[in-house]
Amino acid sequence: MNLHLAGGRIIDPANNRDEIGDILVQDGVVKQVGRVDAGQADVKRIDCAGKVVAPGLIDIHVHLRVPGQEYKEDVASGTAAAAAGGFTAIACQPNTQPPIDRAGIVRQIAELAVGASARVHVIAAVSIGLEHKELVEMAELKDAGAVAVGDDAFPVQDSGFLRRAMEYCHMLDLPYIAHCEDKSLTGDGVMSEGYVSTVLGLKGIPRWAENIGTARNAQLAMATGCHLHVLHVSTKESVEIVRQAKRLGAPITAETCPQYVSATDEACIGYNTNAKMSPPLRTKEDQDAIKEGLADGTLDLIATDHAPHAAHEKEREFALAPFGMIGLETSLGLVITHLVKPGVITLAQMVDKMSTQPARLLGVPGGSLGVGDVADITVFDPDLQWTVNPAVFKSKSRNTIYGGTELTGKAVATIVGGRLIESAS
Ligand SMILES: [Zn+2]
Repeated sequence: MNLHLAGGRIIDPANNRDEIGDILVQDGVVKQVGRVDAGQADVKRIDCAGKVVAPGLIDIHVHLRVPGQEYKEDVASGTAAAAAGGFTAIACQPNTQPPIDRAGIVRQIAELAVGASARVHVIAAVSIGLEHKELVEMAELKDAGAVAVGDDAFPVQDSGFLRRAMEYCHMLDLPYIAHCEDKSLTGDGVMSEGYVSTVLGLKGIPRWAENIGTARNAQLAMATGCHLHVLHVSTKESVEIVRQAKRLGAPITAETCPQYVSATDEACIGYNTNAKMSPPLRTKEDQDAIKEGLADGTLDLIATDHAPHAAHEKEREFALAPFGMIGLETSLGLVITHLVKPGVITLAQMVDKMSTQPARLLGVPGGSLGVGDVADITVFDPDLQWTVNPAVFKSKSRNTIYGGTELTGKAVATIVGGRLIESAS
């Protein structure tokens, strides 16, 4: 089936395009952009008037839970959630059971993802068993299809080990995807250290745990030449550290997530375990600095840190519940509501941060709507108002703080390789 996306606002930062026009999708690629000859046979016409037509959104920070924790999420449910949220591709993080530390597991995930509702790119673990004692066989993992190496959820503490890992990454031209945190400062903290943690009587995680991790990793990027990608920036100091590192010429990119610009540590009041995440929700001051970082380009991209957990795991006392919140189906609405509508970033900047930059970082298809490019496309309505209802999520999990929240902006069609996946109403 070929597709004629008619009369939408095409926003394609990779090709400097922001204009009303048509797109013809044929045989899985973008065939024409601008004006399309109507009335061709075997073409499904989709009216995109009043909608934005953008290169498919790419989320590089998804805990797909495959292999080993399919009760939280699996390839079918995770990619369906992605498509529902407007994502045509995701990259899955390696802290699975077993971890993604061998080429065979990378290939297994790729096989499971054939025909799924979104593309799945694989980020390999940096160490065997996530133990940071023995490096993985990076060349083999790369041959098997891994697009990056990283340590999310289990940040490397040993700087010497990380230096070696980053030297190998640099040699193999793989980005290093880092969860920046000094665990000795985190201890058994469960939320951001501050006024709210004191009031709730919960153990705090000092902001310095993240800041020191970010600063050290930025130094190692400069020392090794390895491309460092900083995951989920949540503090104002981390924004400034990334800004300074970039000024010094460090090969570094950074992301934040919608929750860090739309919620604060006050979401933990009432001991809501869905608000427990790592890094923890911070303060209004941090939000403001993150917004500034997004606007001036210090923060290159926006990812979700989609971290599904079963209800019984979150329904425990705060200190014992696991860290993490889902995000694929609320990300676009949160970003438009909290960043685009208030004028923090433009729609074009949003598309850049949620599609073009992620594709560039991982060196994967997508992120661009030039003629001949793969037809990964998201059509969204930037003005559609809706209420978040976790009961209808495609994800297997429901751990979100946004149930009942009114948002503006929603994907209405997600096209992966020319295939129409999700079409609302
Ligand atoms: Zn993380």
